[in-house]
Amino acid sequence: MFNLVIFGAPGSGKGTQSEKIIDTYGLHHISTGELLRDQISRGTDLGKIADSYISKGQLIPDDLMIRILETELDTPKAANGVIFDGFPRTIPQADALKKMLERRGTSLHTVVGLEVDDAELMDRLVKRGKDSGRSDDNPDTIKNRLNVYHSTTQPLRDYYLNEGSYHGVKGTGTVDEIFNHIRTHIDTIKK
Ligand code: AMP
Repeated sequence: MFNLVIFGAPGSGKGTQSEKIIDTYGLHHISTGELLRDQISRGTDLGKIADSYISKGQLIPDDLMIRILETELDTPKAANGVIFDGFPRTIPQADALKKMLERRGTSLHTVVGLEVDDAELMDRLVKRGKDSGRSDDNPDTIKNRLNVYHSTTQPLRDYYLNEGSYHGVKGTGTVDEIFNHIRTHIDTIKK
């Protein structure tokens, strides 16, 4: 089993690079944002709760998010390994992930951080908002999401640096250039 976190700010390219990683390594993709958007589009109770946070650019409470993730981790598709996209976003989520993996006899093998500056992120997200139809891709909510990222999620970079599992990659350039850096790194640690 090979488990990887793809880490970075909103708009850093986590979803795009996740697809390339899945195609190459056959991992199961768990995108917490996609899971939540699916619940919203199906109009479930969970979706209604999630929407009240997402549309404001706020994070879903940790206990709820952790429960959703744990359920997803137990699907048979996760048996080969998982790419976690958009999770963890807080220190308690990172602690919970470590314990969840330990209980299943496995661990996190690497954290790949896509590093992109704020001006570029803002630009990408505003452009994406024009055709994504996402309720949180509008300028005010984007600003809030970037603030939440800096105050709450970015400290995880130091958390994983201290653990020796963080690997930063420049998140600008072509999709393939960025992916080549990621692939070199994954191939090194898989050896
Ligand atoms: P994403 O698609 O990863 O950008 O996530 C979209 C939104 O879903 C975020 O702005 C949060 O409101 C919510 N969300 C996704 N993942 C998490 C998480 N791990 N913890 C809390 N909220 C999350």
